[in-house]
This record gives sequence, structure tokens and C-alpha cells, in this order.
Amino acid sequence: MSESWKSRTQGVHSGIRRSQYGEVSEAIFLTQGFVYDSAEAAAQRFESLGEDEFIYARYGNPTVRMFEDRIAAIEGAEDAFATASGMAAVNGALTSMLKAGDHIVSSRALFGSCLYILEEILTRYGVEVTFVDGLDLDQWRGAVRADTRAVFLETVSNPALEVIDLRAVAKIAHEVGATVVVDNVFATPVFSRALEMGADVVVYSATKHIDGQGRALGGVIVGTREFIRKTVEPYLKHTGGAMSPFTAWIMLKGLETMELRVRAQTDTAGRLAEALAGDERLSRVVYPGVADHPQAGVAAEQMRGPGTILALDIAGGRAAAFRFLNALKLVTISNNLGDAKSIITHPATTTHQRLEQTMRDRLGITDGLVRLSVGLEDPEDLLDDLRSALDAI
Ligand SMILES: *Cc1c(COP(=O)(O)O)cnc(C)c1O
Repeated sequence: MSESWKSRTQGVHSGIRRSQYGEVSEAIFLTQGFVYDSAEAAAQRFESLGEDEFIYARYGNPTVRMFEDRIAAIEGAEDAFATASGMAAVNGALTSMLKAGDHIVSSRALFGSCLYILEEILTRYGVEVTFVDGLDLDQWRGAVRADTRAVFLETVSNPALEVIDLRAVAKIAHEVGATVVVDNVFATPVFSRALEMGADVVVYSATKHIDGQGRALGGVIVGTREFIRKTVEPYLKHTGGAMSPFTAWIMLKGLETMELRVRAQTDTAGRLAEALAGDERLSRVVYPGVADHPQAGVAAEQMRGPGTILALDIAGGRAAAFRFLNALKLVTISNNLGDAKSIITHPATTTHQRLEQTMRDRLGITDGLVRLSVGLEDPEDLLDDLRSALDAI
């Protein structure tokens, strides 16, 4: 294990723990508990846990620990805690650190369930939440206060792909001593530089690019050892948000190929964005990797790559967008993202249908907008499919 390894090498080797059999591929320790040699050994283990000691799978498990160590190595973080889903990670990161009377500032452009946690759950327990337009630094400056405990944001918003200036927001937050928590799904662990840009805690839905093959739900919280083991772990181990060992194995194998997959998907996304730019049936092609994206500069400076998702605004609104979706033969209509299969979604009527029209307008979620998660298919086949479906409108 070497800290000087590049991320692709970390993705294949970091965190591995071999059993006495010396297996090459990571073992699945599909066990809820662990046997103690004696009553004294059990007592000792409950008192203080050694490096390769486990008590109960809700607290930790060797396969899960391999995944945590591997993602922490890729992120350049001290530690990580794996969770049953991305939302268990978002909830765990925020709820474990906040208490009644605390204040949190959040960007408004959030994944629906993240918004629910902030708007409905945290407020119910007496946390005060202020929402801002994440792109407007003056709003962040105006919202943070001496008692602001945390700020929360999605580095790249879903589905409009706005890129927040994380470095600037982190500076504003740190001036009042607030912890910066980011949901980094769209940036991906491959292109993320969130910790370098000032984030203190990074959260991923592993369901997306980490699995990358649409098999399992999972999540992970990445941060300092102090935060992960002293704040997050006690909360999650007692409230039951642990990742299953089988899922951890899927995610470990996902990490081995993640960088190759995400880079290939991103290359294709860039090619599609370029090929579709200027098509008169589209009123906008949104991709952080093209020069006319409003935050192209921030994306280039703060991320190692623009990502696997693009948004297309179909001229003609909802009816045209539906005709376009229904005419696709290769790209599937679904709502996951980061998958090997290209997936398309109409956010206004699915993932974001609960939002008021005025809020959708504010977030750039027009009736013609579709979100395309670019997969691993041949770029030519994807382009042919998208062009034929545009013809069919
Ligand atoms: C999918 C997603 C989540 C939730 O992850 P689950 O694994 O579905 O619980 C949170 N944030 C963002 C940005 C997502 O895309």
C-alpha cells in the first residue's frame, strides 16, 4: 500500500485485506458477527478495537472496511464510512453533526431527497436552515453567521449542471468556522478535487459511478479520521445505516474500473455535446466541459474533468421532449445515472415533479430539459440514436 500511488492504482489495490488463504480478489465476509477466543478477548475488544478487529457488521466488517479504505485513498482523505445508500450518507453526515439551535446554509439546487432532509427533517429537530442560490457568492456571504455550523451544497447541480465555486464558498464558510459538506455525485470521485478546494466532508451516492453498473444502492462519507470515527461512526453504528458486506464487495470491484469507465463516459459526453451543439431542435446543450457553459472556468479549475452527464433542452417543450425520449432505441428511459448504460430522464415530470413551477424555473428545469447520463456504448451508436430521435420529434 503506497500513498504515492496514482488514483487508478489506488482503485485497484488500496485497502485490500487478505485472509489466511491469500485470495487475489477481495473476499466477501458475509457475516454479521465475529467470534472471540475467550470471554476476556470479547471484553477486551468491546473496550478498544484493534486494526483488524470487528464486533458486529452494523459497526464494521472487513469487506466494508476494504471499501472504506479504498475510497478514502482515492479521495486523499484520512477515513471514510460506508452507508446503505447515498441518502443514508447525506443524512448521516448532517444529522450526526447538527443539533437543535444550530444553523446551516445550503444551496437550493439539490437532489430531491437532500432537499427533504434539510427542509423537512432537520428543521423538525430545531436546526435552522437558510437556502441560497449556490452560484451567488454574495448570498452565501449574507447567509453565514457566527452560529453557522455547516454549509451544504452539490458541487455540480442536478439536473441543470451548474458548477458552484467551492473554493470561494469554503472560504466564506471557514471564516465563521462552519464545516463544509458537499454532495459530490456529479463531480465523481475521479474528477473531484473537493477536499483540495476546501470541503471538509465529501458524500457520495455509491449507487452512481462507484458501482457504475446499476446493481446496488450504497453511499459513503469521506473526511478526517476525527470526524468519521468520533462524529459519524457513533451516529451510524447506533442508528443502523451500515452498508452490507455484499454491497461493499460490489462497490470495491466497481472502484477497480471506475476511473476507466468514468473517463470513457466523459470522453463520449464531450463528443456528444460537441456534435449536438447548434442543432436547431435543441434550445440549449448544457455541459460543463464546453466553453459556453456559464461556469466553464470554475469547472476547469476545480474539477479534473467535466463529468458524464449532459443536459439537453429540447425546443418545443414537454411534448417534443416526450416524443424525443419515446423515439430513442438505445438510450433507456430511467432515473439512475453514472451507469454503463446510457440513461435519459425528463426531470420536470419525474425526479423534480414535486417542485413548484416557480422553483423549477429558478433552477433552470424547463419543460424541454432532459438529463442524459452517458454510458459506455460506442459514441457513434449513441449519436446515431440521439439524432434519429431528434428527427422523430
Ligand atoms: C442519487 C443521488 C443521491 C442519493 O443516493 P442514493 O444512493 O439513491 O440514496 C444523493 N445525491 C445526489 C446528487 C444523487 O444523484
